[in-house]
Amino acid sequence: MVLQAIKGFNDILPPETAVWQFIEGEFRRLLDAYGYGEIRLPILEYTELFSRSIGDDTDIVEKEMYTFADRAGRSLTLRPEGTASVVRALVQHQLMKVREVNKLYYLGPMFRYERPQKGRYRQFYQLGAEVFGEASHRQDAEMLVMLARFFHVMNIRSAKLHLNSLGCEQCRPAYRRALQDFLAGRREDLCADCHRRVERNPLRVLDCKHPGCREVVAGAPKILDYLGEECRRHFHGLTGLLDEVGLEYEVDPMMVRGLDYYTRTTFEFLAGDLGAQNAVAAGGRYDRLVAELGGPSTPAIGFAIGLERLAMLVDRGQLPVDRPFIALLGLGEKAIDRLFPLRQELARAGVPARLNYRQKGLKNLLKKADRDKVNYSLIVGDQELETGVAILRNMESQEQRSIPLSSLLTEIVEVFNGHQNQ
Ligand code: ATP
Ligand code: MG
Repeated sequence: MVLQAIKGFNDILPPETAVWQFIEGEFRRLLDAYGYGEIRLPILEYTELFSRSIGDDTDIVEKEMYTFADRAGRSLTLRPEGTASVVRALVQHQLMKVREVNKLYYLGPMFRYERPQKGRYRQFYQLGAEVFGEASHRQDAEMLVMLARFFHVMNIRSAKLHLNSLGCEQCRPAYRRALQDFLAGRREDLCADCHRRVERNPLRVLDCKHPGCREVVAGAPKILDYLGEECRRHFHGLTGLLDEVGLEYEVDPMMVRGLDYYTRTTFEFLAGDLGAQNAVAAGGRYDRLVAELGGPSTPAIGFAIGLERLAMLVDRGQLPVDRPFIALLGLGEKAIDRLFPLRQELARAGVPARLNYRQKGLKNLLKKADRDKVNYSLIVGDQELETGVAILRNMESQEQRSIPLSSLLTEIVEVFNGHQNQ
C-alpha cells in the first residue's frame, strides 16, 4: 500500500504555498510596523501548561489534545494553541523585567484532535500576537484596527468584527450565578455535556454548538448587563474608539470563546463565505493568566488567525506570478555546458532563469518556453558558439537580437532590470 499522511494533516504544495508566503509576508510587515517582535516556540510542552491555562472544562482540553507520555513517562502535549506557550516563555525568561510592555508575534502549526472537514484540520497553522503589560482599552482598539488593516491589505472585504466583554473576577460571579439559575430551569433541553457544565463552568454552555443548547442560550441572561463600573468603562472606551476610527463591529453578548482564560474584551472576525468554519481570527484580553501561571500580575491581550481559512479568502489574482524570467535554450551538449556557468551567475544576480539539461530541438524548447510564459529566451547552438553571438528572443513581441557571448550576463541583467522598472 502507498503510504498516506495522517488524516487531518495536510501537505501544502506549490503554487498554494505562494498564497501562504504572501500572507506571512504581509503579516510580518504589519506586525513590524506596530512594534512587535517574533517569538519562536517549541511545539511540545508539558500537558499541565494547557490544562492550567486553557481550562479543564474546555473542548480543547477535554477531547482535542494530542497528549502522550515520553520515554521518561512525562505527559507531553502537542500545542493546541499559542498563547499558553507565549505566557510560559514570558514568565520563564522574566521578560517583564526587560520591558514594561512586551509585544510578541508567532506563526506555526497547532494540533487538535477534531473531526477533519473543510476549514478544520488536525494540524493547522496560526498567526498570532500577544501584548503584555498594557491594560488600556486603547491597546484593544489598536489590535482590532491592526487586524482590520491586515484583512484590508490582503483585499479581504468579507471579515466582520464581533465583539463582547466577559467582565473580570469582580463582575463574573454574579453573572455566573444568574446564568446557573437560568440554565438549571432549562436543564432538560441541554445536552449531556452541558448538564455537567452547568455546575462546573456554566459559561461554557454559551459556547456549546448543540442546536438544543443554542436555543436555550438565546434566552439566557447577558454578561454585558452584569459588568461592573470599571469593565463597563473599558468596553465603552473601546467601542467609542472603534466608532471614532470608523471600524464597524457587532456586539455579540453570547460570545465567550473556547478558552477559559479570557477577561473583558473578546472578539472574532467572521467571514461569511466560509460556512460553519467561519471564524478566521479570534482573541481577547486575559488579564489574569500571567499571574495564574506564576508570573507577576500582568494585563494582556492577544489573537490568533487561522492560516488555512485565511488562505481560502485570498484572491489569487493579486499574487506575483511565479515564472522564470528567461529560458536558456542550449542546443547540444557543448552549448548546454557553455550556458551552465551563466545560469549560476544569473541566480547570483537574482534573475530567475532556467536551463535545459536534456538535448532537444529548438522548436521543442521554444514551445515549452512559450507554454511556461517566460519573458525571454536565449538561444545558443553550435552556430552561435562558432560566431560568438547568441540570440535573445522577446517571447511576447517575438523580436530577436544578437548578444556577444562575452557579455551575456551584463546584457541579460540589464534587460531584467529594465523589465522590473516597467
Ligand atoms: P472554531 O470555533 O472554528 O472551532 P476556535 O474557537 O476553536 O474556532 P481558536 O482556538 O480561537 O478557534 O483559534 C483561532 C483561529 O484558529 C480560529 O478562528 C480558526 O481560524 C483557526 N482554527 C481553530 N481550529 C482550527 C482547526 N481545527 N483547523 C483549522 N483552523 C482552525
Ligand atoms: Mg474549535
